[in-house]
Amino acid sequence: MSQDRDIIIAGAGAAGLTAAQYAARSNLNTLVIEEMASGGQALIIDRLENYPGFPEPINGYEFAMKMETQAKKFGAELKNASIQSVKKQNNLFTVSTNDSQLTSPVVIVATGAKHKTLDVPGEKEFSGKGVSYCATCDGPFFKNKKMLVVGGGDAACDESMFLAKLASKVIIVHRRDRFRAQKALAQRVLDNPNIEVRFNTELKQIYGDTQVTEVELFRNDKESTYKEDIAAVFIFIGSIPQTAMVPDASRNKEGYIITDNEMATNIPGLYAVGDVRATPFRQLVVAASEGAIAAHAASQYIDALKGQAYV
Ligand code: NAP
Repeated sequence: MSQDRDIIIAGAGAAGLTAAQYAARSNLNTLVIEEMASGGQALIIDRLENYPGFPEPINGYEFAMKMETQAKKFGAELKNASIQSVKKQNNLFTVSTNDSQLTSPVVIVATGAKHKTLDVPGEKEFSGKGVSYCATCDGPFFKNKKMLVVGGGDAACDESMFLAKLASKVIIVHRRDRFRAQKALAQRVLDNPNIEVRFNTELKQIYGDTQVTEVELFRNDKESTYKEDIAAVFIFIGSIPQTAMVPDASRNKEGYIITDNEMATNIPGLYAVGDVRATPFRQLVVAASEGAIAAHAASQYIDALKGQAYV
């Protein structure tokens, strides 16, 4: 059995595209498979202001396109397909997509994570009708209206800052008495005159007709429930890693793939990078760094395999 590629990368976010660029620059025959557009989480960032080298904020889509162009420039190829499974036999992985089967000695999983749902009544029913998980995508539809944000992490705070430019008012509800978000970001939210922060508050139900009109909120320190008119609900309560294609990769209790310092998983030749990996700090710059490390380690792994038959 011969290999189709040196490296197949699953996912074209910041981690996958950086891995692709580094792998292609090492003269490895590199294929990135992505089912959506390139960019991953970067696509929903309105103003990316903490990526080193960009002193002026850059739009996330623009940033992603630059990364894609750079990876392609060095010879990486991109394929739009959905990966169904990744199976290893001897030293070769077979990556099965909706339209092909490809083999390679190395697979880098860079599939990221998808948003969690709150699972309260009305959430599913009004999804796309006022309930959203992406401020830059849906915020402009609710210009000059009152918006509710649920969550207390970086995503909730970042997205609230964006929504505050559009909304008549943004209300953030967070279940605890303090934010989980980075301190500087949390402070900017607290200082924003168009954002009202309500700690110890939970969203219990979403009401509406054709669109969201009202929510039920619960003060968990006072055990009191009240209703509030709201035009849109944005939910940012964390994410679920996308690991279904590699069921045998070791994970932590939250389901993120465990790797060593070289991004290698428990399966030789299989690497994991970016938001799908168990990492203490999920940032674009971290994802990009992990992609570079994995490509470098994978290149050394392939060198070590050379001279051995892949079967
Ligand atoms: P996160 O850091 O896991 O925060 C999730 C937030 O949602 C927490 O405040 C959590 O509350 C709350 N939450 C979780 N489940 C809930 C539930 N069932 N009901 C109510 N609240 C719930 O997730 P994230 O904000 O999406 O960020 C994910 C990763 O991306 C993080 O590593 C973050 O640093 C990174 N990120 C960074 C930036 C940036 O640097 N600008 C922007 C976006 C994301 P508790 O605090 O009580 O647990």
